[in-house]
Amino acid sequence: MQLYSTKHISPDVDLKEAVLRGLPPDNGLYMPYDIPALGKDFFENIEGMCFNEMAVHVFKNFVGDYLPLAVIEKIIEDAYDFEAPLVNAGDLYFQELFQGPTLAFKDFGARFMGRLMGYFLQDNNKHVNILVATSGDTGSAVAHGFLGVEGIHVTILYPKGKVSDIQEKQFTTLGQNITALEIDGTFDDCQHLVKTAFLDKELNVQFTLSSANSINIARLIPQSFYYFWAYKQLENKTLPLNFCVPSGNFGNLTAGLFAKKMGLPIHKMIAATNNNDIFTKYIHTGDFEPRASVATISNAMDVGNPSNFFRVLDFFHNDYAQIKENIIAYSFDDATTRKAMLEVYQQYQYEICPHTAVGYLGMKKYLEQSQEPANNIVLSTAHPIKFGEIVEPVLGHVPDMPERLKKAIGADKRSIPLGNDFDGFKQWLTAHLL
Ligand SMILES: *Cc1c(COP(=O)(O)O)cnc(C)c1O
Repeated sequence: MQLYSTKHISPDVDLKEAVLRGLPPDNGLYMPYDIPALGKDFFENIEGMCFNEMAVHVFKNFVGDYLPLAVIEKIIEDAYDFEAPLVNAGDLYFQELFQGPTLAFKDFGARFMGRLMGYFLQDNNKHVNILVATSGDTGSAVAHGFLGVEGIHVTILYPKGKVSDIQEKQFTTLGQNITALEIDGTFDDCQHLVKTAFLDKELNVQFTLSSANSINIARLIPQSFYYFWAYKQLENKTLPLNFCVPSGNFGNLTAGLFAKKMGLPIHKMIAATNNNDIFTKYIHTGDFEPRASVATISNAMDVGNPSNFFRVLDFFHNDYAQIKENIIAYSFDDATTRKAMLEVYQQYQYEICPHTAVGYLGMKKYLEQSQEPANNIVLSTAHPIKFGEIVEPVLGHVPDMPERLKKAIGADKRSIPLGNDFDGFKQWLTAHLL
C-alpha cells in the first residue's frame, strides 16, 4: 500500500512509514494512491456480517496483501467491542458513534491506530513519541487508545479552561505512558506547537515523533467503517443516501469520502460547522481563509484551520466545482444549536450533544431544499453526558452517565501547565521525551 504527500515533494511511503511518521516532511498529508472499490459481493453480503467482519473486509480492501489477514483480524478484534447503531427520529437517523470507552466517535480511529502502531513497532527497539493537540475528544480517545501500548509515549496538549471537565478527566488521570500538558492558549496554539515540533530539525534528530491527530492516515481508515455500517442497517437501501457530519478538522468527513470511493452509494455529504465557518465560506465563495478559532458550545469543532481540508481538495483533484457538487456546507451559531438540542428532546425524548445538534441542523436545512425520499443520516459524534455542562441548562436535567464513563473519571487530574511559546514547549520535550 503506497501513499503520497498532498504536496508531492516528499517521497512516497508504505503504510507503516505513513502511520509512524504521521506527517510527511514537506508538511503535506499522506493519501493512499489507490482506494479500490469493494466488490458487489461485499454489498450483497453486508446484511449477514457483524461489525468486525465488515470492518475486516473494508480494511483488507485498503491494504490488499500488505498485511496478513490474521493481523487485520486481530487488530479489528482488539479494537472494537462496540458498534454504531442507527436511531430513527422522523425524517432522519442519528448514528450513535459514541458507544466506545470515551463516548465519542474518535474511539473508532484511536483504538485502531493504537493497535496498528503497536503491531508496526513490535520488532523495533525504537521508542515512538506521539504528540497530540486536542480540543477535547481527541485527547481522551487517543489516551485510551494507546494506554499501555509498549514502546509508545503519548503527550497530549490541550487548551487550559477550554475543554469540559469530563473530557479533561479522561486524559489527565491515566498516568502510565500518557502525559497531559495544559497549555495557556487556544486549541490552535496547541496545534501550532505540535506542527512546529514535527518540523523542528533538532527534535526530529533526537526523537522519533509521530502524530495521532486526524491527520494520521491510521485514524481515517477505520472511520470509514461506520459509514458502511449505517448502510447495512437501512431497510430500503435503494434510496439516495445522505450523511451530515458535524465537522472541525474534517477527518470524519474525509473518511466518508473514502467510503464513497470504495463504492458506498453516498449521494450528498453535508458538512455542518459552528461559528468556525471556514469551510462553509469556502464552499460558498471558493476562497479558503483559515483564521483564529472562536470558542463555541460545540468545542470539539472549534477549529480555525481544518487540517484535513487539503485532503478534501486532493480527493477532488483541486476541482472546486466537483467539491461543491459533492459536499454541501452550513454553519450554525450557539443559540440555534441549543434550540436544536431542545427540539430533538421534546419531539423524540432523545438527548443529543451540541456537536450532534449542529449536525441535526445541517441535515434539517438540507432537507428544506431537497424533497426527494432518502436515507438521511446524522453522525452523532459524542454522548450528551460528555457535555453535561451545556446540555443540562438546555434540557433541565443531566443525561444519565454510562458505567464505562464512571470508571474513566474517578481518579485525580495530573497535568503540567505550560505557556504557548514554542521555545518553552521544545525545552520541555527535550527534557522529558525518550
Ligand atoms: C472531533 C469531533 C468532531 C469533529 O470531527 P473532525 O473529524 O475533526 O471534523 C465533532 N464532534 C465531536 C464530538 C468531536 O469529538
